[in-house]
Amino acid sequence: MDADGTDRHDLSELRPQPAGRTRRHVLAGLAAASFGVICSPSCTGALAAAALPFAEIADGIFVRYGVQEEMSAQNGAAIANIGFIVGERSVAVIDTGTTTQQGAALKAEIARVTDRPVSHVIATHVHLDHCFGHGAFAEEIAAGRIANVGHHKLPQALAERGGFYLERIRALSPDFADTRFIPPTTLVQETATIDLGNRRLTLRAWPTAHTDNDLTIEDARTGTLWAADLLFSGRIPVIDGSINGWLSVLEDLGERNAARVVPGHGPVDTTDTAFARERAYLAALREGVRAAIDAGLGIDETVRRLADLGRGDWLLFDAVQGRNVVAAYTELEWE
Ligand SMILES: [Zn+2]
Repeated sequence: MDADGTDRHDLSELRPQPAGRTRRHVLAGLAAASFGVICSPSCTGALAAAALPFAEIADGIFVRYGVQEEMSAQNGAAIANIGFIVGERSVAVIDTGTTTQQGAALKAEIARVTDRPVSHVIATHVHLDHCFGHGAFAEEIAAGRIANVGHHKLPQALAERGGFYLERIRALSPDFADTRFIPPTTLVQETATIDLGNRRLTLRAWPTAHTDNDLTIEDARTGTLWAADLLFSGRIPVIDGSINGWLSVLEDLGERNAARVVPGHGPVDTTDTAFARERAYLAALREGVRAAIDAGLGIDETVRRLADLGRGDWLLFDAVQGRNVVAAYTELEWE
């Protein structure tokens, strides 16, 4: 345990744990939550987001899949995968979504599934679609009942971008006016462990890759790796950190042989297919940009030349490719 943090929030310091519900209760709650809400055509975005179902992707691990679209009022800005992991004593939340409504829907789902308390809210990185639903847990965080966990560089990233992200979210819909962000105070330097009660999670703070504050969570019991935006499945990866760093982190993640990987976007990967695909895209992009730089092309020419590089059937390709080329170019031109 070399982190500045999570072990300080040993669960023995938290409030007494109520008796857990049975697995039958859990499954019944899940079914009700998954099928009980049907959105009418007049649904607002916030309601639509609240109606998105959760899936139990492994024993006690619940994921709400985001839609594979750009954020909008219509989709409730619910575009990222978020969820939670249930231990015998308590629950860890992993990402809270874009808005307080999404955080509240997540909280309601936890209450339907179990009566065990939330002990940790973990942010996987700074992006607005992942950790701006923390407001739903503000009271418990402020009271010290929930540890607010993140990469050691996340507070700085939120200080730099949080205000801008809030403007973007609030511009989508007046429904999102109460959205806020809450910087983590339990910081992971390299690795940290959390024990939810016979359920040990290992948190890892990575060097710059997708962003400079990427955090992954591994659940030893099920062999599940929650990679968040270090893995994009279906939707094209977005480079907001370092293409070299990301490719290097992917090598390390690939060696972990997880039984399943929860990406930040898209379906759970049990075959390493999504990892391989992402790696191939990033590697081809790096090669293409290096060749353009070697040929003396400027950024604009390189963007044009590589407009279709690696297109495949990635979703949202045209919205992101130019930005990825620019990010890679500005990093690689100094090699
Ligand atoms: Zn992201």
